[in-house]
Amino acid sequence: MDLTFYNTLTDKKEIFVPLKKNNVSIYQCGPTVYDYAHIGNLRAAITNDILRRVFEYAGYKVNQVMNITDIDDKTIGRSKEERIPLSELTRKYEDFYFADLRNLNIKIPEHLPHATNHIGGMIAMIEKLLWKGFAYTTTDGVYFDVSKSKNYGALAKLDLTAETQSRAGGEDKKNERDFALWKFWTPDDGPVAFDASFGRGRPGWHIECSVMAMSELGETLDIHAGGIDLIFPHHTNEIAQSEAVTGKPFVNLWIHNEFVMIDGQKMSKSLGNHTTLKTVLGHKIMPLAFRYWVLGTHYRTHANFTWEAIDGAQNALRKLSAHIGEGVGVINESYRKRFLEIIANDLDMPRALALAWEVTKDTSLSNAEK
Ligand code: AMP
Ligand code: ZN
Repeated sequence: MDLTFYNTLTDKKEIFVPLKKNNVSIYQCGPTVYDYAHIGNLRAAITNDILRRVFEYAGYKVNQVMNITDIDDKTIGRSKEERIPLSELTRKYEDFYFADLRNLNIKIPEHLPHATNHIGGMIAMIEKLLWKGFAYTTTDGVYFDVSKSKNYGALAKLDLTAETQSRAGGEDKKNERDFALWKFWTPDDGPVAFDASFGRGRPGWHIECSVMAMSELGETLDIHAGGIDLIFPHHTNEIAQSEAVTGKPFVNLWIHNEFVMIDGQKMSKSLGNHTTLKTVLGHKIMPLAFRYWVLGTHYRTHANFTWEAIDGAQNALRKLSAHIGEGVGVINESYRKRFLEIIANDLDMPRALALAWEVTKDTSLSNAEK
């Protein structure tokens, strides 16, 4: 059975071809652990759980990596604000995050690398980029030179001739779009600093994911996933620096989930319009009812959060569970085949749920088959 996915890189639905027969390697950008996850972050986690389960159902051996971003601007800023050591802060929110995943019946990925455990690999990769001429040092850090990159911005379909506003980082960058691989220590960083041949400091965000992905899965991955907000700059820059080092394609298939929206806006911590799973459970919604609500929208479509929609999902899930009951049934082959075709078509969970309802209404089936 062929599995088909929409590939952000090619803008097309493609039949999945694994690097190694019957195996799939998946890297997904995990949580930045400076606060509670919101339900948009959890939608991303559920999408990636469905992805792994579809591969498992289709008979693949899955090797899935989810990183923990435990060092970046946000985590360092929050640890200063709260006056607690970085590792204590990140451990606390990581524990909350995994509690959410368990509540949502998400299978924990095989590998859970922490950025802080891969600093040596990041330093080595930046040394290679400097040596190969893809990177240069400024007064405040080490930057990647996008003008040296083949095909920079292909994932995001960037127009490189357009003016950019990207002045992030030092004034002495060579190109507006150059991004920091390493940030030299400033007093704002407090105790967070690592020695490197090119200067004491800390890694940029993008290099973290490239290093964790390649150290767990090798130089080319089958799949890299994340929310659509990560296409640019994060994933764009991951591709540029990884391919500069290896000279090989970094990722064959890019899968991006759409946002959870609220009142017409992206749910986000920075907009302050976010809802956590704890708040949802406080409204007497079961965790799996929240998961059912997520599955009711295709992962490439906005999911509009309202309490009515979540209540509706809970009612639907209760009714569906009542139909199914406790007993162990027998599998109807023709429905199983249709189910597989649906999930193999770019993870079409809304249609998969509709099929489950169709089974409950089919009077030609025996009760055991329902
Ligand atoms: P963060 O913890 O902010 O690094 O985000 C973790 C994951 O959640 C990333 O894959 C993001 O793209 C994703 N994400 C962030 N906000 C939303 C949202 N409103 N809806 C869906 N996914 C989101
Ligand atoms: Zn990432």
